[in-house]
Amino acid sequence: MTGIGRNGIEKLLKSPVFHTIRDISEEMGVESFVIGGFVRDIFLERPSKDIDVVVIGSGIELAEKVALKLGKLRLSVFKNFGTAMLKYRDLEVEFVGARKESYQRNSRKPIVEDGTLEDDQNRRDFSINALALSLNKSNYGDLLDPFNGIQDMEKGIIRTPQEPNITFSDDPLRMMRAIRFATQLDFKIEESTFQGIKDNKDRIEIVSSERISDELNKIVMADRPSIGFKLLELSGLLEIIFPEFQALKGVDKVDGRAHKDNFYHTLEVLDRIVPNTDNLWLRWSALLHDIAKPVTKRYDKNLGWTFHNHNFIGTKMVPKIFKRIKLPLNEKMKFVQKMVGLHMRPIVLSEDEVSDSAVRRLLFEAGDDIDDLMTLCEADITSKNAEKVKRYMRNFKVVRRKLKEIEEKDNVRNFQPPVTGEEIMEVFGLEPCKAIGDLKSFIKEAILDGEIANEHDAAFELMLKKGKEMGYEPVK
Ligand code: ATP
Repeated sequence: MTGIGRNGIEKLLKSPVFHTIRDISEEMGVESFVIGGFVRDIFLERPSKDIDVVVIGSGIELAEKVALKLGKLRLSVFKNFGTAMLKYRDLEVEFVGARKESYQRNSRKPIVEDGTLEDDQNRRDFSINALALSLNKSNYGDLLDPFNGIQDMEKGIIRTPQEPNITFSDDPLRMMRAIRFATQLDFKIEESTFQGIKDNKDRIEIVSSERISDELNKIVMADRPSIGFKLLELSGLLEIIFPEFQALKGVDKVDGRAHKDNFYHTLEVLDRIVPNTDNLWLRWSALLHDIAKPVTKRYDKNLGWTFHNHNFIGTKMVPKIFKRIKLPLNEKMKFVQKMVGLHMRPIVLSEDEVSDSAVRRLLFEAGDDIDDLMTLCEADITSKNAEKVKRYMRNFKVVRRKLKEIEEKDNVRNFQPPVTGEEIMEVFGLEPCKAIGDLKSFIKEAILDGEIANEHDAAFELMLKKGKEMGYEPVK
């Protein structure tokens, strides 16, 4: 690991941007260091383009001189924060003066004062995030690792440098960050650090929903999101930030019959969908597909456990959850609702003989999202019964093939009525009224049932016939 890190560092430190920072720091008589996530990611071989440079002195002044020297680069200065940012090739470098922080009980915004490198490393959340690389002439490229961050990386451990209780109470967002890093890196959270999270879980109240949802999204986008949700559950945070998901956990037993634990089932579906999609909202759909199971759960002596309508009730729960967690209330949410609402359909389809009209209806309702829906449904097959899984997968193949055939033939994916309302009004000399809607939906149903082709002439003929039955005659 250190070998890899060393090579990475040497390559990195050859970049003109770091040579320039070194030379100008020397001229100004200040010390500067690369610090935090960028250093961590060199050792973990994770691609990272955001570089934080901490200066024992004015970050803005150093940044101004560096930008000038590198060829009059454009510099964004944030006076209020005492930071400045420049872009050099594909790198984004942010300069800030070293700081010391102290916290008050009711806010996660610290009181900030100028400090030493040590102060600045002390305020970092985890040992692996407190690494610094010297950019100074006397020890250029030296690694300063006061809390054994490298060792923790080798062991795969997330640990706070300071007393966990203080770290998490000061800034409770760090609890979400710990779990997010453990998920992204597949690291363990060290025992006393995890105990610190459990003990401070209620402090999450002072963190804004936006910050929490940013971290949740990062967990959802990780390679194995289940790690994060299990840790959220174990720590007690899940109950507070996402009670509907917590409610999926547990198994009830009546007459010796139990249902599956929908918390673990959901996490399995989420992990299973990861290799097949980078779409955050399809992953959220996996997370929420069974969200209404706890509220729809019933026990029936004959049927056993049922979750009637959980897909439909689920679509109603999605906006409430999105609103509270501060996820977007736009077409992304509608997409998730659609997936939750339709997630049983391909499975039901694949249980029966797959009829053309059922496939046509599914295609009509899912529209362009049909492929995403199929991806979700395939991930939803988590049965341990190999025979059953095989049968489902075979039937899904049939469904997919039929979807393709019917789409090529009937073109119902983005259905447009072949006879418009205006045309109906004109033919029968009607003013806008309910009969027009009835005629249109009669035609649509006939197309979806495969009784007529999805084309104008056939639809027009059916309209005349049905119109007559309803007592209307063409005016010319
Ligand atoms: P990512 O880029 O994956 O979000 P990161 O840690 O690389 O994670 P930032 O969130 O920008 O990126 O943080 C940069 C550095 O600032 C961290 O590595 C850490 O040293 C420090 N840091 C960020 N947030 C906190 C915090 N809430 N408490 C203490 N230190 C923090």
